[in-house]
Amino acid sequence: MKCPHCGYKEDKVVDSRATQEESAIRRRRECLKCGKRFTTYEYVEEVSLMVVKKDGRREPFDRKKVLSGILRACEKRPIGMEKMEEIVTYVERAIQKKSDREVSAAKIGELVMERLKTLDDVAYVRFASVYRQFKDVGQFMVELKDILSKEKRKGAR
Ligand SMILES: [Zn+2]
Repeated sequence: MKCPHCGYKEDKVVDSRATQEESAIRRRRECLKCGKRFTTYEYVEEVSLMVVKKDGRREPFDRKKVLSGILRACEKRPIGMEKMEEIVTYVERAIQKKSDREVSAAKIGELVMERLKTLDDVAYVRFASVYRQFKDVGQFMVELKDILSKEKRKGAR
């Protein structure tokens, strides 16, 4: 560790102890050149997952935020809370698997849609419409028509 007093790169550790909350190790070091003492702290690296937003800003991954989007899409649909939580967990695991532990907001949307599609068509379309912000209206209409015709067929039975 470079000495803050003289810049020399060798030192000896004279004392080493955990901080009170044991979240860090505090070491007292003595410079081998100038003999002055200084302190270093060793922390565990935080393993939070980060979301990269459209404008490039990053924010910590928030389960609640993802869940609230799913809740909105699933309103009055026959999907239990447990299923919705499962989707969030699925998304969370997918980010954890990435080496940089970072994911774009767009990717989160895709992962949620992927799961909703297998669960409930209406919830899926709702989520997709909010999420995609009608950027691809054509695709949206195709999916909507498909779902509406399915619903009609169900009703005719
Ligand atoms: Zn020094």
